[in-house]
Amino acid sequence: MSPSATTLMQSLVHRQMKLVRVSSTHLRISALAGALTDEDRAELRARKDELLELLGPQPCASCGRFAFDNAGVVCYWCRHPGLRA
Ligand SMILES: [Zn+2]
Repeated sequence: MSPSATTLMQSLVHRQMKLVRVSSTHLRISALAGALTDEDRAELRARKDELLELLGPQPCASCGRFAFDNAGVVCYWCRHPGLRA
C-alpha cells in the first residue's frame, strides 16, 4: 500500500470528510461545500485504485462503511477491529 494513499485518506478524515466505497469501482466523498480543493480532487483521481484497495473489499461489520487502517483490520470510522481475516 502506498503511504501517500494512506496520507491522503488521513488528511480527508482529519478535515471531516468521509470517503465511502459505493461499488467495486466507485468512491463517494462527502465534504462540506468548498472543503474539497481542486488539489484534493486531482489526488483522489490519481489515487483512486489505491484508495479502493485501502477501503477494503468488505464493509465494516459494525458501521457498514468501507475503510480500514494500514493493517487492514481496524475500521477507520468506528475503530471496530478484526474485520478482515
Ligand atoms: Zn466501522
